[in-house]
Amino acid sequence: MPELPEVETTVRDLRRFLPGLTIDKMLYADWPRMIQTHPPEVFGQLLAGEQIQTLERRAKYIIINLTNDKYLIFHRKMTGNLFFREAGAPADKYTRVVLGFTNGTELRYTDLRKFGRVYLFLGQAEMQVLLSRLGPEPLLDTFTFGHFQEILRGRKGTLKTLLLDQSLLVGLGNIYVNEALFVSGIHPQRNAQSLNDTEREKLYHAIRLVLNTGIENRGTTLSDYLDGEGQKGRNQETLFVHERAKEPCRTCGSLIIKIVVGQRGTYLCPACQPEA
Ligand SMILES: [Zn+2]
Repeated sequence: MPELPEVETTVRDLRRFLPGLTIDKMLYADWPRMIQTHPPEVFGQLLAGEQIQTLERRAKYIIINLTNDKYLIFHRKMTGNLFFREAGAPADKYTRVVLGFTNGTELRYTDLRKFGRVYLFLGQAEMQVLLSRLGPEPLLDTFTFGHFQEILRGRKGTLKTLLLDQSLLVGLGNIYVNEALFVSGIHPQRNAQSLNDTEREKLYHAIRLVLNTGIENRGTTLSDYLDGEGQKGRNQETLFVHERAKEPCRTCGSLIIKIVVGQRGTYLCPACQPEA
C-alpha cells in the first residue's frame, strides 16, 4: 500500500505537470463504486471546464485543488496509482478513471484490486469532513518530540498497532512502521506504555528518518507502487527488515524473522530488537 513517501513522491511528480491544465472531460470510468461522492456522469460534469490550481498531500490522500472551490481527492488504498500521460500515450493496465485535459494530456487512475477511493468535494467544508479525523503530519517542523510524547501518553496496547492508527499519527503503514521500529531497536510487540523516554525519542527520530529516506528514494516498490510517471521507486533496495525474512540483518548479521502483529506481516531482527 502506498504510504506517506509514495504519496508524497506522486504529488511532487504531478505538481510538475498538472497545475494550469483545464479538464476537458472524464474520458473513462469503469468502476462506479470507486467514486464516493457522485455517480460517474455527475462527477464528470462537475469536473469539466475546471482548471487545476495546486496539489497537496494530507496523510495518504492526494488533494487536487481546482477552480471554483472544488477539490478532487484520491486515496490509493492497496494498489492504486495516479499517472500523468501525454496525448496518445499507450494504455495503462487496470485503468479505472481517466480525466482528459484540453491540451490532450491525461490523468489516469489505475488500480488492480479496486480498493481505491475518489472524491470530489464542493467547498472546503465538505472536504474537511473527510480529513477531520486525521492525526498530525510526522514530517512537519511543528511536529515535535513533545507532540509525539503526547500521542503515546496513557495509551495502552501494542506499539505497532498504535503507530498504524491514522487518527493518532498519519502516513505510516506496514513498511515504514517495521523500518522505524528496527531503526529505534524496539520490538513491535512492546506495549506502548512500556517505553522509556530514551526509546520514545529514538522512535520519534526513526519515524522521521525512514519517511524522509523513503521520499529521497522516491518510494518503495515491492509490488504495485509506481510514481506519477509510472516509474518504480528505489527504497526497496535499502530496507532494513521489511520483507527480508531469513536475510541477514544489515547491522548485526542475525537473520531477520517474520511474525504476525495485528494481522500484519511484521519483520524484525531478534538481536537488534529484543523482546524487552
Ligand atoms: Zn540485527
